[in-house]
Amino acid sequence: MYKAEEIIKTSKREEIIDITELIKKHIKLSNIKDGICALFVPHTTCGVTINENADPSVKSDFLNQMKKLIPQQGNYLHSEGNSDAHIKSILVGPSLTLLVWDGQLVLGTWQGVYFCEFDGPRNRKLLISIL
Ligand code: ZN
Repeated sequence: MYKAEEIIKTSKREEIIDITELIKKHIKLSNIKDGICALFVPHTTCGVTINENADPSVKSDFLNQMKKLIPQQGNYLHSEGNSDAHIKSILVGPSLTLLVWDGQLVLGTWQGVYFCEFDGPRNRKLLISIL
């Protein structure tokens, strides 16, 4: 099994970062031709997901709608002041299971792998296992 840890440096409170090329780099380094690439973020206010990477406005629309659905200020009980970020993280999820076929990351034509920051800027850990 191939294991790697990356630090994702985010620069805003809420940000979507395309990590597709980073994941492809690790798949190549792993030398695993057919298997599974698992991603995991050991954090409670960020996440990983897959979505369209052709039109950058998709990322903006996602963050803008998430802000409307889950406002930063609200009637929250959590005293740290970042309940919205926890809820967004729950919705996006902390992990992904990706397919590796013939040494390539399997994605649809329009898909990219995204790291989603909801309480930055911070340095985040991204854990990668390929088996
Ligand atoms: Zn919190």
